[in-house]
Amino acid sequence: MNARVQNTCWALVLLGVITLPAEASSQTREYRFGDGTGLCVHFNDPSGAEFAEQVLDAAVSAYQTLTQFEGFHTPGYSFASPDKNYAYDPDQIIDIYLGTSDEENAYEELGAKNKLFRDAPCFDTRKTGSARYEAFILLPSNYEAFIRNWEQMNPSPLGKRNINVDLRGTLIHEMTHVIVFYYNKNLDKAGEESAPSAHLDWYVEGLARYFETFAGARHDFYSQGFKQTLPDRIRFSRGGSNYFMRYPDQAFTGLRYENALFWRFMDVRFGMSAIESLSRRLRSSPGEFKEALEEVTGMDFKTLLERYATSVLLGDFELKEESGYLHPVASTKLLFDEGEFILLDGRGGRENLGRICRTDWIGSWEDEQASFGEASVAGDATEAADVSAWATDYVQLRLGPDSALPDIKLKNLGEGQPISVQLFVFTRGGSLLQAEPITVVRGATRSLDLPKRLALYSLDPSDLEKIVLALTNTDPQKTSPYEILA
Ligand SMILES: [Zn+2]
Repeated sequence: MNARVQNTCWALVLLGVITLPAEASSQTREYRFGDGTGLCVHFNDPSGAEFAEQVLDAAVSAYQTLTQFEGFHTPGYSFASPDKNYAYDPDQIIDIYLGTSDEENAYEELGAKNKLFRDAPCFDTRKTGSARYEAFILLPSNYEAFIRNWEQMNPSPLGKRNINVDLRGTLIHEMTHVIVFYYNKNLDKAGEESAPSAHLDWYVEGLARYFETFAGARHDFYSQGFKQTLPDRIRFSRGGSNYFMRYPDQAFTGLRYENALFWRFMDVRFGMSAIESLSRRLRSSPGEFKEALEEVTGMDFKTLLERYATSVLLGDFELKEESGYLHPVASTKLLFDEGEFILLDGRGGRENLGRICRTDWIGSWEDEQASFGEASVAGDATEAADVSAWATDYVQLRLGPDSALPDIKLKNLGEGQPISVQLFVFTRGGSLLQAEPITVVRGATRSLDLPKRLALYSLDPSDLEKIVLALTNTDPQKTSPYEILA
């Protein structure tokens, strides 16, 4: 009985502490959810109250979207009922600080972390005990100027950004990092337990970027990134899905924000519950994401890569009225005429390759064009035909006017796991024939049985608009060189 009374008292005392402002010099706007989680927006510019309220509003809907609507609320993993032996926020408050990078910010509790405003918007934690991590988000208090500047560097084909929608996108992006931190510490992205930070962004940043679309923010999801050479430095951003459509041939685990498209694929095909259970599964074995993905999708990883490659080629992500924002995937463009391959550049040039194609060079993608001798405008950085680990090369082949159907073969010159080849035949009548994937092990040469397959459908070469090969490297680490033979 006594103990019970005492507990109640403690609870009252704690509540009193929680509702006090963190410090005298800053002001706050606060919100408390039914699950006990609190949000607290801190600002120290007296004119910042209105913006603080906008931020609070955006943060409330971000938290609700993630936890209530998208299911990131499993006990033992969620922010509201975490595993206290793994990671928890002792006051159960997500703090959001508004500040600037060029002025002195004086949030006492942030200490040296005040200088992180240089990286804002960003998420971080303050570790205050073995499993105690105080979650906080830093946002530029001059958000509108920040976005207008960003917009100037990185003009969006979707038009001018709406600041309020953008703010909501930013909040749900950072809130994803907050929520996922208590699931799997963002796979130790911060490097606290010594994991190499650069190789986890395919999950952490790709997923956060995908969640931006849940707040209606699309500019960064569809961004194709940019590269700017300034007198003193290079500004570079990998944008979002259209960066991936331009550069599909990159090792899967090296992908960053552009992997948002993969999470769209996962969500459409397997549902958010699969992504949520993947996020749980990754806590116990962050290195085993191949197995984890197989478990939550019920599909072997090779098939998953093939299906994803197919969606990328066909732009099949159920984007509906937004599908026009996603550009077609970049491909090497070949012509087959008089028994030989001809490589096409972006300016009408042709180069005869003979009966073997040994290049994956790309001469045109959207508005980008290159002539022979110039760097490839898309795909990867090398001219030699090769495909990165867990990535896909796309090769488009058209037939000359009187050309016979070539018996195309793929030679795998790699030393790792097989290359999977998917054949897509687009007819002039508008149909698409898609063959079962063919597996080509290292050192082997295999025919794609093109003439035989087309005979089944009674198709003539003149019925074909184009043929596309999707060459997926199923090796987790090794780049695979290859040749296409006719
Ligand atoms: Zn992020």
